[in-house]
Amino acid sequence: MQTYKSVWANCLKIIKDNLGPENEQVYKTWFEPIVPIQLEDNVLTIRVPTQFFYEWLEEHFIDLLKRTIRLQLGPNGMLKYSILMDTSIADQPISTNLPSTGRQAVINRAKDVPMFIGADENEQKITNPYIYVGVQKRKVPSQLNGNYTLENFVEGDCNRLARAAGYAVAENPGRTSFNPLLLHGGVGLGKTHLANAIGIKTKEKHPDSTVLYVTSEQFLQQYVEAVKNKNTNDFVHYYEMIDFLILDDIQFWASKGTHTQEAFFHIFNYLHQRNRQIIITSDKAPSELGTLEPRLLSRLKWGLAADLGTPDVDTRMAILKQKLANDGIEMPQDVIEYIAYNINTNVRELEGALVSLIAQSSLNHRQITLDLAKQMIDKFVKSNTREITIDYIQKVVCDYFKLPIDCIQSPTRKREIVQARQLTMYFAKKMTKSSLAIIGLQCGNKDHATVLHACKTVANLNETDKQFHFWVDELEKKFKE
Ligand code: ADP
Ligand code: MG
Repeated sequence: MQTYKSVWANCLKIIKDNLGPENEQVYKTWFEPIVPIQLEDNVLTIRVPTQFFYEWLEEHFIDLLKRTIRLQLGPNGMLKYSILMDTSIADQPISTNLPSTGRQAVINRAKDVPMFIGADENEQKITNPYIYVGVQKRKVPSQLNGNYTLENFVEGDCNRLARAAGYAVAENPGRTSFNPLLLHGGVGLGKTHLANAIGIKTKEKHPDSTVLYVTSEQFLQQYVEAVKNKNTNDFVHYYEMIDFLILDDIQFWASKGTHTQEAFFHIFNYLHQRNRQIIITSDKAPSELGTLEPRLLSRLKWGLAADLGTPDVDTRMAILKQKLANDGIEMPQDVIEYIAYNINTNVRELEGALVSLIAQSSLNHRQITLDLAKQMIDKFVKSNTREITIDYIQKVVCDYFKLPIDCIQSPTRKREIVQARQLTMYFAKKMTKSSLAIIGLQCGNKDHATVLHACKTVANLNETDKQFHFWVDELEKKFKE
């Protein structure tokens, strides 16, 4: 009779064998900390300490794991991850000095690797919430992620309104006009973090209030389960106990879960009428959530919709510095700048780049230098099919001419600055996919005609002016470095 322990023990043997003695450290770092926890219907569940750990396994050892599991469990064998939410309670902390990323466990739904079901978002998740019915309210586990605090949430133009609204809500839950508070913005921009942070702050300020964080997916699963078990009443009562409800990723319900939405609609009304606070996040703006049930959608518009935008380069730099400080890691300023200038999509990727860089350096015993960062980030950027950014071009051009970077934005007509701005526009046109209008906007709020003119001027001077030709050449080399 195979048990989860025996299956995993056999897997470990195969893995160790495959990695060979020269990779003993790799084995120790990435496989020994794994704890098997369940075997059911050919699905082996293993527990890993952190989200980062899980991503690393998937990235680097997926083939090995896949082969090994199939050898043990047959062609239908599957592996499921469970991630310990709080990295501080991992049974066996990983031995290298990798940072605890504080990142939330994210389910990789779209992974096209059939054998991997993905990661359990939170081990303490309540699959059957109503077992708590009859239990004192304050026993409801809040499911908040303790790493996501307001103090850790770097403020920038991109999130000022949302952060301030969150703060107000935590001070005075249910009593402001921000009810519900809808936080929306693209993926990886901090919705989950901020929503959690507001919940944590609320608990600090109002220790008696019952705060609950739940993802829309969890809510849906729980509801479906309740219908199956014919105890939807208990389900509803459970939610009616909550003083402060955070529902994450409501866009998950778009075009599905009509009955779930209905159930939530009633819970929403119940809570709202009693001045209980509701926070909802969505990676779409309310106007794009047209596939939600209209009644529910109209409720979302009752309170405040606050947008989380993409952080500008200064905010990105501040976020990187904060993560480093939290993990007690030092990094040269030029490396931090390099990352901040080059990863401009969202905070999750920014963090991912930082974590990979630290991992690379610690696993290969290499110093974190600008060169290492360039190699890594270039790969990172390429693998995400992104290219050089306008921000980065501005930085290279300004560094080259020893000008302050904000001069590109200034209206000045000083010759050297005009030239730097024109060169920036020229390279931005050449090296990015941005439109002339966007380039103009980012280079001192100019219109597209100005950009076009700049591109022509530079092209001309490049042909006719020796000095100019030299600059273009030198800069081109810098971009290729
Ligand atoms: P979303 O829910 O919008 O997809 P998350 O809240 O999961 O995004 O954020 C992705 C990662 O970026 C998290 O690790 C989070 O801690 C981090 N993050 C996002 N915004 C900030 C910020 N303003 N300051 C610090 N960290 C941030
Ligand atoms: Mg989220």
